Amino acid sequence: MKPLALFGGTFDPVHLGHLSVAWEAAELLDAEVRLMPANVPPHKPAPLANAEQRVAMLHAALQKQGRLAVDTRELRRGGPSYTYDTLCELRAEVGARPLVLLLGVDAFAGLPSWHRWRELFEVAHLGVLSRPGVEPELPHTLWTEIEARRTDDVAELHAHPAGCVIELAVTPLEISATRIRELLAAGRDPRYLLPCGLFEDPALLAPYRRT
Ligand code: ATP
Repeated sequence: MKPLALFGGTFDPVHLGHLSVAWEAAELLDAEVRLMPANVPPHKPAPLANAEQRVAMLHAALQKQGRLAVDTRELRRGGPSYTYDTLCELRAEVGARPLVLLLGVDAFAGLPSWHRWRELFEVAHLGVLSRPGVEPELPHTLWTEIEARRTDDVAELHAHPAGCVIELAVTPLEISATRIRELLAAGRDPRYLLPCGLFEDPALLAPYRRT
């Protein structure tokens, strides 16, 4: 069975950096990829767009393709979005199907501060996405935990439900939601950093514009 891969984030707003890596991860892993907006990100300030607005942007971004989908379970569940809880919920739904948590390398380096981080490997594989200009030093505890789990063989991830760590070399796109929010607040039009679906309805980007 094809793995189910989850790409969580704030998506405030979703941009072509997210979509491009999610798409390439789907190809590299031969997996179904779901983008999963976080409700209350435990590590970040509150998003500018509310949950409904972020989901509307994701749906607008994912039109006319069948490879990437949106999963709103963390928004429906409410409260803080602990990835461990989400993966356990998914594990109960999918049985032995491989689950892959996709993380940018910057998020991966911060993993030891996450709720029940060592137990994540019992419920999912980890796919670490390379990110331009970001080559963080990995903490020693993280190295120790992943040493025996690292693989470069996608077949390993198809053969087991959880427990491997694979690096996914994706095409670098130096785009961040922070920069896009700055540009929109300054009255600029970052047309080719965002999926064109986000420009179809002016209400979608309104949370970031200063009127
Ligand atoms: P912000 O600038 O607000 O911090 P962001 O652009 O990093 O936002 P998030 O929604 O926080 O976007 O990111 C979700 C996931 O996408 C994280 O794992 C992050 O590392 C990854 N990611 C974001 N932008 C890129 C990019 N350009 N290339 C690769 N991965 C990315």
